[in-house]
Amino acid sequence: MSGEFTESSPLRVAVVGSGPSGFYAVDALYKADVNVSIDMYERLPSPYGLVRSGVAPDHPKLRNAIKVYAKLAEEPPFRFFGNVTVGRDISVEELQHAYHAVIFTCGAQTDRRLGIPGEDLSGSYTATEFVGWYNGHPDYRDREFDLSHERAVIIGQGNVAADVSRILAKTADELKNTDIAAHALDALAESRVREVIVVGRRGPAQAKFTSKELKEFGELADCAPYVDPAELELNDASRRELEDKQNANATRIYELFRTFSETPAAGKSRRVQFTFRKSPVELTGDGRLQHVRLERNRLEGEPFQQRPAGTGEFTEIECGILLRSIGYRGVPVPGVPFDEKRGIIPNADGRIVDGDKAVPQLYVAGWIKRGPTGIIGTNKPDSAATVKSLLDDAAALASLGEKSGAEETSRILQERGIRYVSFSDWKRIDRSEIERGQAGGKPREKYTRVEEMLALLD
Ligand code: NAP
Repeated sequence: MSGEFTESSPLRVAVVGSGPSGFYAVDALYKADVNVSIDMYERLPSPYGLVRSGVAPDHPKLRNAIKVYAKLAEEPPFRFFGNVTVGRDISVEELQHAYHAVIFTCGAQTDRRLGIPGEDLSGSYTATEFVGWYNGHPDYRDREFDLSHERAVIIGQGNVAADVSRILAKTADELKNTDIAAHALDALAESRVREVIVVGRRGPAQAKFTSKELKEFGELADCAPYVDPAELELNDASRRELEDKQNANATRIYELFRTFSETPAAGKSRRVQFTFRKSPVELTGDGRLQHVRLERNRLEGEPFQQRPAGTGEFTEIECGILLRSIGYRGVPVPGVPFDEKRGIIPNADGRIVDGDKAVPQLYVAGWIKRGPTGIIGTNKPDSAATVKSLLDDAAALASLGEKSGAEETSRILQERGIRYVSFSDWKRIDRSEIERGQAGGKPREKYTRVEEMLALLD
């Protein structure tokens, strides 16, 4: 398998996207028995994808993965091309010319839609926008969130919903020593939100939080979690789900909800309420969001297959801000097949396919391969599986002959006047962010504009 590539004529691979799945693909390639040279392309000047701009600022341990990725990036001949958008600054065809293989690990960059009237009213936002904003992602730097109303509604009960609810529920004191972006900390310090209602379309036995994340709501400085005890009643199928030993997380979640239903608010000025079996059907307001109309659901189906079905009974909640946190979705890359329905790049074991045919040289890993599920570590075996497919194709890839990799693409980018950011450039930005943070007792103060990062370098 590996004998066809030599040190002087290695397997040249381009990885598109610098989040966890990209770095785990690099890791799997380095561990394989093959002479390989890898270059990574990233749209932003900064690497690490959602580990930098998705992980909540108050969960610093989850950012530890960055240390592993930085080590991989420093193993020569690895080259980082930040500030390069594949499909715009350089085409997929050009990458195919310069490399034996291209692995797309560009994640799921947008959100699924509810598809209900009023979804785009001012005051209704996606969780992605809010997360990007508090994490200093340049795309969301100039978003404004109206936090002047006392009640916020979050749609969805996954870990992203937990993150955004917790950030809304925390005091500025709880956030000020994190790497939260300064503009977000200032706005949150002035927030008048006192009640966050987190709405699940299914029941308390089907919420997708992990128990560690849900438990945190009981540990906040000035916010109490709450569940109406009547909402904890379960149908027979849900009871059977909780009896299943494989479903221990759901049982822990349910027990936490029970604890929340029994614990008094004890002088806390904010509240996060979890409510179940309700789907939003319409957002209304005079020019901006004022109400969300919810339909009550009942659950139908066998254990673990239960779906929500509307009952025709409605309830309305007044609110000033609503965050839709119902899952991410991939966006197409020009020149690469895309499955519009699933929001992923269609593939068979990580080989990109067009209909039933594998597209030579093109591979995919991570959320853009399987959809937006799992935690950071889930991407490790996923990327390794893609790399296995790629290496199984080694003979066909070797038959393409010698490739010149970064030598060719750096010339193309320079000719086009693209100021790409190398890994040592990034390290300068990184050091500067850490220095900026020190003054305020923060681990770092991120640059939130691409121009600022480039100005620092040049
Ligand atoms: P998720 O876990 O898939 O949760 C999505 C939620 O939205 C579910 O409650 C889902 O309900 C609901 N939903 C979907 N469509 C809906 C609709 N049309 N109307 C109402 N509700 C709807 O997704 P996520 O929260 O975006 O997280 C993505 C992944 O990242 C997850 O694997 C998560 O664990 C991970 N993550 C981990 C951490 C961490 O480890 N701290 C932090 C953030 C994210 P149904 O169950 O009924 O479909």
